[in-house]
Amino acid sequence: MKTFTRIIIAALLIIAATGARKPQKALIITGQNNHNWPVSHVAIERILSSSGLFKVETAISPARGEDMSGFKVDFRRYDVVVVDYNGDEWCDEMKSAFERYAADGGGIVMYHAADNSFPQWKAYNEMNALGGWEGRNEKDGPYVYWKDGALVRDMTPGPGGSHGAQHEYVMECRDAAHPIVAGLPERWKHGRDELYDRMRGPGNIGDLLYTAYAPQELRGSGRNEPLIFTVDYGRARICHIMIGHAGPTLEDNPAMQCVGFQTLLLRACEWCATGKVRQPVPDDFPTEGECSFRKEYR
Ligand code: ZN
Repeated sequence: MKTFTRIIIAALLIIAATGARKPQKALIITGQNNHNWPVSHVAIERILSSSGLFKVETAISPARGEDMSGFKVDFRRYDVVVVDYNGDEWCDEMKSAFERYAADGGGIVMYHAADNSFPQWKAYNEMNALGGWEGRNEKDGPYVYWKDGALVRDMTPGPGGSHGAQHEYVMECRDAAHPIVAGLPERWKHGRDELYDRMRGPGNIGDLLYTAYAPQELRGSGRNEPLIFTVDYGRARICHIMIGHAGPTLEDNPAMQCVGFQTLLLRACEWCATGKVRQPVPDDFPTEGECSFRKEYR
């Protein structure tokens, strides 16, 4: 009986030790974007902070056109870096530090228009696997999309990056076993958002997690587009989340108020930071027929 009691106490101690996890350190990089970054970075901050899983800091760059030489980040201080940035070139020191952070096994979440940024920076484009706009075309790599149960690499010449009219659309899972998506519905309806299509790049997708169909009647590509995936880049853990176009205000921001977006952002950040996902699936996760929103981002 005594041994049994000791085993129970040991088990409780282990549960207590693993339950009291200290928050992961997250950094959001923002400050320039062709998108509404004053809305998007606050939404991301609230989502991460209110989960209790992350201690969040934000690096805000100088404004577009200003001197970027003093904008530097010590990436090694963070378990995960969320890139919400599309703007002027970082200084060489910052770029090298980011490449080193990735090569050393850092965690990176590329969010929405982060994949528009830095068309000339080869390593950065490899960290995204796919990008768009800013003069991207066949020189940057194939179009990559999902067809007949596999990813197609299509070298047809043409511009990289477009999207049709914003709408609600169904996300379809392509790898239900990956920790980021394990337990989530295989099909769920996302809040009104852009649907990035005709993206192109080196195409080094690791695990394709979700695609969505871009209907031609809304000026989409007529293809199943990869929207959430991990990226094979050295020892880094990278998740690329193409959804989540910021609305005009925090109150009118359906793509980021969507519980599906918030859940995937949190799970991607945890996986990139730790290699594991221990969050339960929320009860209010969207279904295939119905969107679900957390308007306060918590
Ligand atoms: Zn957008």
